[in-house]
Amino acid sequence: MGATPEAPGRDCPRCPRLVAFRAAARKREPEWFNAPVPSFGGDAARLLIVGLAPGLQGANRTGRPFTGDYAGDLLYDTLLRFKFARGRYEARPDDGLTLVDCRITNAVRCVPPENKPTTIEIKTCRDFLDATIAAMPKLAAIVALGRIAHESTVVALGARRSAVPFKHGGAHDVGRYRLFSSYHCSRYNTNTGVLTPQMFRAVFADVRKFLDR
Ligand code: URA
Repeated sequence: MGATPEAPGRDCPRCPRLVAFRAAARKREPEWFNAPVPSFGGDAARLLIVGLAPGLQGANRTGRPFTGDYAGDLLYDTLLRFKFARGRYEARPDDGLTLVDCRITNAVRCVPPENKPTTIEIKTCRDFLDATIAAMPKLAAIVALGRIAHESTVVALGARRSAVPFKHGGAHDVGRYRLFSSYHCSRYNTNTGVLTPQMFRAVFADVRKFLDR
């Protein structure tokens, strides 16, 4: 068998629960993207952002990570502030926004019911995260959004989870990469004050400083 490609095909059969969820969404909303959402941004970037999984009516509808998701409002605003993006974010894939030295992917590429992928789905989809990281020759920094993305990235990088604990604002050198971690910029976290825009910006200020050093 050959190496896993960076992106699953539109009809990736690996996770039966997600395949069934996707089939139901295709029937209900035939105009939506309804497929594994590919990474956004070129593979020459030095920064990779790892989200959790597409939102049903956001990335799963539009086909671009975080696009149309509530979480995308804070993420793209922050990327624009720190010059990791250029243009205007208008919550649609043809808004002309481009990423600068930055790429966005998800730990799980298909939308999971209730935004909750299972342990086995996270593990199964990690092959694509491995391949995405391997395909980025200049990659230096990774921002993991939330504990699940953090842990999946740690494993993808070949480290032990216990050696690289998740902490908002934390940074660890893992192999040749610096892994920055943040609470996920989800609606729940921002509405409850777990994550404020200032806290989120502080993470990207650290990343910017690291890459500009
Ligand atoms: N949309 C994504 O693409 N990923 C997330 O983690 C959340 C929303």
